[in-house]
Amino acid sequence: MRFLTLGNATDIGASCHYLSFDSCGLVLDAGADPNLEGPDSLPRFDSLGDRPISHAIITHAHHDHIGAIPSLIEAYPHVAVHMTKATWQLTSMMLEASVRLQRRRYEEGSSPYPTLFEYEHIDAVQDATRTHAYEDTFELVAGDLAARFYYSGHLLGAAGVLLTTGDGMRVFYTSDTNIRPQTIVPGGHYPKEAVDVLIMECTLGADPEAERVTRKTEERRFLQSLQKVLRRGGTVLLPVFMLGRAQEVLCMLGSFRERGQINKGFPIYTAGGLRQVSAIYDATRYDTPRLDPDFEVFSVEQRRFPRSQKAKRQSIREPSIHVLSSGMMVENTMSNWVAQEIVEDEKHAIFLVGFAKEDLPAGRLLHAAMNGAEEVVLDPRTGVQTIACDVDRFRFSGHSHRRDLVALVQRLSPRKVILVHGDTEARAWISDEITRACRGVEVLSPELGEDVEC
Ligand SMILES: [Zn+2]
Ligand SMILES: [Zn+2]
Repeated sequence: MRFLTLGNATDIGASCHYLSFDSCGLVLDAGADPNLEGPDSLPRFDSLGDRPISHAIITHAHHDHIGAIPSLIEAYPHVAVHMTKATWQLTSMMLEASVRLQRRRYEEGSSPYPTLFEYEHIDAVQDATRTHAYEDTFELVAGDLAARFYYSGHLLGAAGVLLTTGDGMRVFYTSDTNIRPQTIVPGGHYPKEAVDVLIMECTLGADPEAERVTRKTEERRFLQSLQKVLRRGGTVLLPVFMLGRAQEVLCMLGSFRERGQINKGFPIYTAGGLRQVSAIYDATRYDTPRLDPDFEVFSVEQRRFPRSQKAKRQSIREPSIHVLSSGMMVENTMSNWVAQEIVEDEKHAIFLVGFAKEDLPAGRLLHAAMNGAEEVVLDPRTGVQTIACDVDRFRFSGHSHRRDLVALVQRLSPRKVILVHGDTEARAWISDEITRACRGVEVLSPELGEDVEC
């Protein structure tokens, strides 16, 4: 087998890895780089030359794993796309949201690129897609190559995939994985027997704090911080990614209310695509791994974030919790709007519950607040604002911390590990640690365009 990454290897960009077997060529994921726009955000399919792609195995519905599927199908119309059923439900919704966002950005002039695909391309993705249950083996090339999804713990529908060749070689791709439970979804499942090659994510490889923080202590700190703000009559903004983190946080808020730790009278506001995703979480609760299959995201009473400026302003005048996207508070989103309204008032709080890139508003705010700076620019049109509200960050990651990843390597005992989905520092730490802890395992960190034999 040969491995060639087509996406960004030195940072978390577009996830797309090409594998060539004697019997066929396939890609693991077809993501777009969330930090780039237009054709630059796509994987480098051109670097394949005339090498074929017969299958695409899609592990989960985050944009960095699915955003390029329509472009892939346009370039390779005969490709068969494989994913779990819940991933398909989320993917079709997320791709439609992506068309709307690309259109809007082009029309308002904030992006120079016309849309990469349209709704009819999503229909083509649907025609090409075959869904599979967890731990059901399906053949890619009869007798020569089979695949099997394992629930990966990261997100609803998410999966790692085991590929087995006709001569018995076993290759496992973790994709984004979480060994430990979150609030709604339990920890991931992995093959019971050893594998030959392990292609593994290392998102948190350079994050020593992640392995020290437990979910339980972080939940307690989160609750206490919420109580403090609500008690003094403030509004809490929780900027969230609409897929995954939003639902996990709503579940947490629901249990705080159930236990009487947060007064049910304080409204929780949600809106838009996040509510659509929550409906998919609820509809699939008996068919996908759950900690509590009876839990419904919509059982947590929530109000729709209003549309009119007047009603929006009214919603932040009373003690309340706003669970709104975007997670990074990019300009022209609901979370950015609320942040601008509350940042200058010491009564309120902005609590980040996910990853915040430093050059985007959420990251800029966090960085400024942590470094004692008193000002931030949340939107250049508004200009400099004073930071008076509470700003904090809580770690509720959907990824395994780095020691859990090294333990996973020990458990799967591969002869070769290929590191993906992590920056240079993250891959370096994991690589050194595997070399130290797992004798005889070869670790590779291929760069974009580097073709490696396995
Ligand atoms: Zn992901
Ligand atoms: Zn990812």
